[in-house]
Amino acid sequence: MSDPSLPALLGGSPVRPEWPPAWPLPDPDVQAALTVAIASGAWGQYHGEHVCALEAELAAFHGVPHAITCASGTLAVEAALRALRVNAGDEVVMAAYEYESNFLTVHALGAKPILIDVHPDTWQLDPSQLEAAFTPQTKAVICSHLHGGLVPMREVVTLARKHNIGVIEDAAQAPGAMVEGKAAGTWGDVGTLSFGGSKLLTAGRGGALLFSDPQLHQRAKLWLHRGLQQWAPLSELQAAALRPQLRKLPDMNAKRAENVRELLTQLQSNPQWLQPLFRSDPNGLAFYKLGFQFNPTAFGLTRELFVKAMRAEGIAFDVGFKALHVGRSPSRFRAVGELPNATAAHERCVMLHHPVLSLSRADIQQVADAIAKVYRYRDMFAERAPSDRS
Ligand SMILES: *Cc1c(COP(=O)(O)O)cnc(C)c1O
Repeated sequence: MSDPSLPALLGGSPVRPEWPPAWPLPDPDVQAALTVAIASGAWGQYHGEHVCALEAELAAFHGVPHAITCASGTLAVEAALRALRVNAGDEVVMAAYEYESNFLTVHALGAKPILIDVHPDTWQLDPSQLEAAFTPQTKAVICSHLHGGLVPMREVVTLARKHNIGVIEDAAQAPGAMVEGKAAGTWGDVGTLSFGGSKLLTAGRGGALLFSDPQLHQRAKLWLHRGLQQWAPLSELQAAALRPQLRKLPDMNAKRAENVRELLTQLQSNPQWLQPLFRSDPNGLAFYKLGFQFNPTAFGLTRELFVKAMRAEGIAFDVGFKALHVGRSPSRFRAVGELPNATAAHERCVMLHHPVLSLSRADIQQVADAIAKVYRYRDMFAERAPSDRS
């Protein structure tokens, strides 16, 4: 029998034997809302009260006049590009470290993604790179707040306005986060949200768009309709499930922020191991993922082995996105400069999936304990690593 104090990957017992929590967590308010929606017949209706009410509640929550729901966050980004009249041959600027579907959506319209570098500390879109990317063909900028970080929207919007370029602000990973006191998703010309199955607000599938400008709202709405109907809408049942979640979002975000603060306090004696992608207080942020800059030299493990060891402990760490410029034909995009920070993000980003952040202090303690445990045994992993790979 192997020593139970060993890392789980080396035959020991996991720190969290109950494994990462499933998402969504059981929610009696969602259950009750669905029960009512079934009893009222909303489950079988094209048009009931819930989609309409959710759109009004999303607009009010974000402090904008218009919101439209639709079938996914990906579709929301496409509708936003269409509303900004992005067509074949146009250019759309985005960070080289970005959600891949946004890149593919730009291609789906026949437009060209122009990739700029991310900020060295936050790995979010860096506005200081924008003006070098703009050409007469540039129609829009897509900015996504990723892994708990925030794009400095004031700078983005100021530069884009100056050049008459539209801004799409993808808040799929940051619903309810505040950027300088203003809700994420309301700084750009169009904001987008996702209600996909892993997201903080979830109906399994779904998305939404936020607008201040009535004309952009009207154009997106027209594009999402065929005749009287939306062709890829959110359903009444999805909307019914989302409404109580939206009401509780501020409290849930505050709870996750409190747990993030606690975890960072636990990690602060070794800040060089894992650096979060935000520099402010976590209060006011939203954590779909808690992203870190992982330092393999300081930790003494490769990123891949760190993630594997943490998962074996029952903690849902994962590697970050692949950067868009890595391993892809250069004919598919134009890069502005060498993109060193996006390459670093590609190689060193790790992220903790959010469900554990909605639990208790004891659960957060397990995350910190598992990191410390894996570190304590790092040399054993390194020795085992070659056979592990064979
Ligand atoms: C999840 C996500 C989306 C959209 O996702 P859907 O699954 O299509 O709803 C868009 N952008 C980002 C940054 C995301 O994380």
